[in-house]
Amino acid sequence: MTIRIGILGYGNLGRGIECAVKHNPDMELKAVFTRREPASLKILTEGVPVYSVSQIENFKDEIDVLVLCGGSATDLPRQTPEYVKWFHVVDSFDTHAKIPEHFAAVDKAAREHNKVAIISCGWDPGMFSLNRLYANCILPEGRDYTFWGKGVSQGHSDAIRRIDGVKDGKQYTIPVQEALEAVRRGENPELTTRQKHKRECFVVAEEGADLARIENEIKTMPNYFDEYDTTVHFITEEEMKRDHSGIPHGGFVIRTGSTGWEDENHHVIEYSLKLDSNPQFTSSVIAAFARAAYRFSQEGQSGCKTVFDVPPAYLSPKSAEELRSHLL
Ligand code: NDP
Repeated sequence: MTIRIGILGYGNLGRGIECAVKHNPDMELKAVFTRREPASLKILTEGVPVYSVSQIENFKDEIDVLVLCGGSATDLPRQTPEYVKWFHVVDSFDTHAKIPEHFAAVDKAAREHNKVAIISCGWDPGMFSLNRLYANCILPEGRDYTFWGKGVSQGHSDAIRRIDGVKDGKQYTIPVQEALEAVRRGENPELTTRQKHKRECFVVAEEGADLARIENEIKTMPNYFDEYDTTVHFITEEEMKRDHSGIPHGGFVIRTGSTGWEDENHHVIEYSLKLDSNPQFTSSVIAAFARAAYRFSQEGQSGCKTVFDVPPAYLSPKSAEELRSHLL
């Protein structure tokens, strides 16, 4: 049985889902939907149509799972409750503080229309959340640490680009190595914001711009940079294109804890990601959860779920019997 996938929104994640479908033989891309002029999109898969989102309702019987690839800030809070009326859906909503609110809105619509939704799939939230949960259940007495990077922060890069005299900018979030090592040694350190991460910025300045002023504006920017040790490098447009056009990311989820009658034995659980492409990896996670959404729909389930509610075996194209014989 092939799972028929639809993509709504063709940005980085939309393109990533297209690649993920190619790597999952039990999936087939049926159509891409966009709010822009469909003819303006150049998609990778030959023969797959692109439609205006205004036509999407017509495809409700031709698509098993619609993957919502809009942005978390303004697209998904509107799109996920809207399109779950017609499709089983998966999204990557990553505004952590608003997940309960988003869940409630999607759950209500999904139940009313007898559809399944899995929200906040990706790596954080997503795989990092699952690893935090497993580690917390195994070591109830312990401490959690999350380090991000090395990776590009879109928000911080945008903030640099808004500074007067800046033509282009890219910001990398980098974990502080000494802090990471102290956590790994089980020292349970109390870490301030500055002790956990540093920020490295690459900036293309406009001709004649005051570089010292730009550097100072970056380093003192409230909320974004002032609480971190920040380095600023001025580079040429060519260097920016050559060395900084990727979207890498990653990070570490670590839990340290103790067991034994006197807490005499110490343990460190670590899950780490080093990603060449944040959106392609995120999309690969979403594709696995799209399979789970399909499995739930085949069982007649409805309502909203998160990664916590999905049995691991539902992510795999293999049968339970195959999984038992190969992976257990
Ligand atoms: P993009 O900005 O690339 O795309 C978002 C939407 O913008 C698209 O769906 C598309 O919709 C529209 N769009 C894209 N390109 C253009 C363009 N050139 N002109 C006009 N509109 C365009 O975002 P990403 O795909 O990188 O990320 C989407 C969300 O994924 C993020 O907001 C983030 O919150 C989430 N995310 C979650 C992660 C997790 O771990 N949970 C990890 C990474 C990201 P349309 O085709 O309809 O115009």
